[in-house]
Amino acid sequence: PSKIEAQHAPSKETKQSLQTPESQLLHRSLIHTPEMVESASGLEIRLADGRTILDACGGAAVSVLGHNNQQVLEAMLAQAQKVAYVHTQAYTTPAAEELAGLLVENGRPYGLEKAFFVGSGSEAIESAVKLARQYFHEKGESQRLHLVSRRQAYHGNSMAAMSLSSNVVRKLPYQGFGYSNVSHVTPAYEYRYKLDGEDEDGFTRRLLSELDDEFQRLGPGNVIAFVAEPVIGATAGCVPPPRGYLAGVRSLCDKYGILLILDEVMCGAGRCGTFFAFEQEGDVRPDIVTLAKGLGGGYAPIAGILIHEKVVDVLRKGSGSFVNGHTYQAHPIVCATALAVQKIIRQDNLVERCAELGPVLEGILREELQDCKSVGDIRGRGLFWGVEFVRDKATKEAFDPATGFGVQVQQEAFRRGVAVYPGSGTVDGMKGDHVLLAPPYTVKLDELRLICNVLKEAIRSQE
Ligand code: PLP
Repeated sequence: PSKIEAQHAPSKETKQSLQTPESQLLHRSLIHTPEMVESASGLEIRLADGRTILDACGGAAVSVLGHNNQQVLEAMLAQAQKVAYVHTQAYTTPAAEELAGLLVENGRPYGLEKAFFVGSGSEAIESAVKLARQYFHEKGESQRLHLVSRRQAYHGNSMAAMSLSSNVVRKLPYQGFGYSNVSHVTPAYEYRYKLDGEDEDGFTRRLLSELDDEFQRLGPGNVIAFVAEPVIGATAGCVPPPRGYLAGVRSLCDKYGILLILDEVMCGAGRCGTFFAFEQEGDVRPDIVTLAKGLGGGYAPIAGILIHEKVVDVLRKGSGSFVNGHTYQAHPIVCATALAVQKIIRQDNLVERCAELGPVLEGILREELQDCKSVGDIRGRGLFWGVEFVRDKATKEAFDPATGFGVQVQQEAFRRGVAVYPGSGTVDGMKGDHVLLAPPYTVKLDELRLICNVLKEAIRSQE
């Protein structure tokens, strides 16, 4: 065993003593019981059996400040002591107002002038889609009923969010039951979808032409919105778009009056080195942007949408309300907690830190993994990196998703004391296999080195 492995390995006795009878909690799996966590601080998660795990993915890119940040905990408690809950039909709070103000400061250069808060990324997508539909309803364009998204996308678990997504396994039990007015186009995923002999600009042109064709097929006047993750997260594994793609999508949407919804649930809130990931893509002004994971950093369940003034204006002059109320929207403790997270990100220049550490992490990853024969692609932005595995580098043949090489690597890295996020499966008839790194913005250089070294050892042990 490696040094880290020896440090983190449980004794047989403690492992066995944790195998209790079936839990009353419905876990994700009825077969595998998840690890029992006792506490966490910084990047370290301490398990009940005594092992310590270095959290290199923050769950699924959630933890942006690491665990147990005292300033955030104090803000949470202070708000709870003032007022824990009020209903938003009658009340608002300084915490919710200040959080909205702070986010709108980031969004104003792009025309984003209001924020709306819910509890999860799926609810944010659901709200974005409903708002877009209401916008057209109030504009007298009620024939617009269709949404277009991309294959290899993940937008969440609720009905509209799942319908926009392409995760076959998650959708399987609900075939014919979801939101049916959704079509999917080719994703901006160079490693898998760029043709032999096609250059980056050619790939962009082909994607835009396909999207235009799809709008034409549906009748552009029937389309509500195009929905996309600027940097594809969980399903494809941290894939930035080719040059000019998002700006081209924006122009195309403008041509037909179609709204552009950018899903920054995973890649936003600074993770890619700019507050919004779309800021690195030229002149892209989304009509609605979703944020979630990095917004509350895991300290509170919060997600939000930021809305362009042109959308707000139609509602302001029309019905005067957004018909989408949730009991817990803009929850005071949740907003105060996220506000504390965002203030720390600002004070400590952590978005800039993500930008600076991006090339550093890339360099370490490329150096460590250069001799791994199963590593087909390394891509990402800021502190958001994916490593894609292939059986054959020349042909890009993927591993059988039933065996899930990425899952095996993730499990092996975990045994060695480092948590990375796996992704494998068949999407769009295409087998894909990757792990994702998304450490907190506060990660130290020696921690990055350790993470990449353990990842290499985990990969090599499976090759
Ligand atoms: N959108 C994106 C891009 C995501 O990555 C996710 C979750 O991983 C969601 C939406 C759904 O968010 P949640 O799991 O909080 O509902």
